[in-house]
Amino acid sequence: MQHTNMPATLTFLGGAGTVTGSKTLIEVGGKRILIDCGLFQGLKELRLKNRENFPIDPKSIDAIVLTHAHLDHCGYIPLLVKKGFKGHIHCTEPTADLTEIILKDSAKIQEEDADRANRHNYSKHEKAEPLYTLKDVLASLPLFRTHQLHQWVILNEYIKFEFLNSGHILGGAFVNMIVNDKKIVFSGDIGRATPMLLFPPKKIENADYIILESTYGDREHAVEDVKQELLDVIQETYDNGGILLVPSFAVERTQEIIYLMYQLEEENKLPKMPIYLDSPMGINATNTYTKYHEWQSISSYEINHMYDNVHLVEDMEQSKAIVADKYPKIVLAGSGMIEGGRMLHYLNNHLENPNNTLLFIGYLGEGTRGRALMEGAKEIKFFGEYRNVKCKIRNITSLSAHGDRNEMLQWLTNFREKPKTIFLNHGEAHQSDALRVKIEHELHWKVVIPKIGDIFDID
Ligand SMILES: [Zn+2]
Repeated sequence: MQHTNMPATLTFLGGAGTVTGSKTLIEVGGKRILIDCGLFQGLKELRLKNRENFPIDPKSIDAIVLTHAHLDHCGYIPLLVKKGFKGHIHCTEPTADLTEIILKDSAKIQEEDADRANRHNYSKHEKAEPLYTLKDVLASLPLFRTHQLHQWVILNEYIKFEFLNSGHILGGAFVNMIVNDKKIVFSGDIGRATPMLLFPPKKIENADYIILESTYGDREHAVEDVKQELLDVIQETYDNGGILLVPSFAVERTQEIIYLMYQLEEENKLPKMPIYLDSPMGINATNTYTKYHEWQSISSYEINHMYDNVHLVEDMEQSKAIVADKYPKIVLAGSGMIEGGRMLHYLNNHLENPNNTLLFIGYLGEGTRGRALMEGAKEIKFFGEYRNVKCKIRNITSLSAHGDRNEMLQWLTNFREKPKTIFLNHGEAHQSDALRVKIEHELHWKVVIPKIGDIFDID
């Protein structure tokens, strides 16, 4: 490593002023490194950004450093590869495994959406094209290079970095990067102070610059007894002789809910109902969790046994039979916001029965069926037909993979000296701003909330 004074810059290409599309570029001495390569998601105006020209030539990017496997951090990778990126993609081992699962699912959804649009002739003049296909995902996989935590990776004469545990999802890591002689910490997404399955976020003591997410910059998670709440909902459904439907995100949330049910079973509190995980992606993600014991704070014994009582449903015919069956049961299925996946079939069949319960356990984006149901919609369309919402709707709000404002602030107090600047990204304006106020007030640090396209000198 040379300690040059080669000018270095930081450019925010995504995840600035929004929670999706995370992409931050470091440039020094003609080298370009991209930290995260996420997809814009949610509202249409954001999703359209995925279709814009990439602001720099993808061929000119030397490497990607990936913090974790969520789509808003990795989902643009196949498109960047399709556009000519040929460098390595650095991440931890579980992140590589989970990213493969998530990107394959993403390609499938992109292809299905394009097919549907063409069938229904949504775009009459032009044929709808998927953003990328499975072929583009497969072309990306050979570029992945995995690293252990705390292992320094030298990218070139100006830049090296190490991954440190972020406690967010399996494999999730902070990037502790040295550029010239300046230290830059990228939080990616930061986990809860005491994650349910993972180890707490690594404490870091110094940095010249910090790039911190601010998803929950304006929020403090409720202190709730999540296990008791879950038990109450299960018991209520059992007493009604109903079916409990849980739309669940495949990574982390599914495993957390299964772990809570396992604990309740061990405590002899869980009513006797069959539990189904009816989600090919959820099963693949779960297999990745069982592969990486050392990443989890729970015991190997628990990891080996927590799935014992869960029926893993991969076969489509079996899934159809379970959907048609009216007996009491607990079903975890995707998608988390009820935008696709097998949960649609369950709700199409069971939403109109007042004995059944629909339980939300995660974030519900604007414009999704999940959000509409949560907000009390009386009827919802499935497969072209309206269904009356008669089942009970329940919500556990405090399950989150993101630290809240206090947890983020707590993590920042580990830094012994003020950084030159802390940048707040990955948040909507009110979220970033609420966190800015708190940091300025309590720590007296210089806070910048960058916009997309903003460039800063690292000196
Ligand atoms: Zn994330």
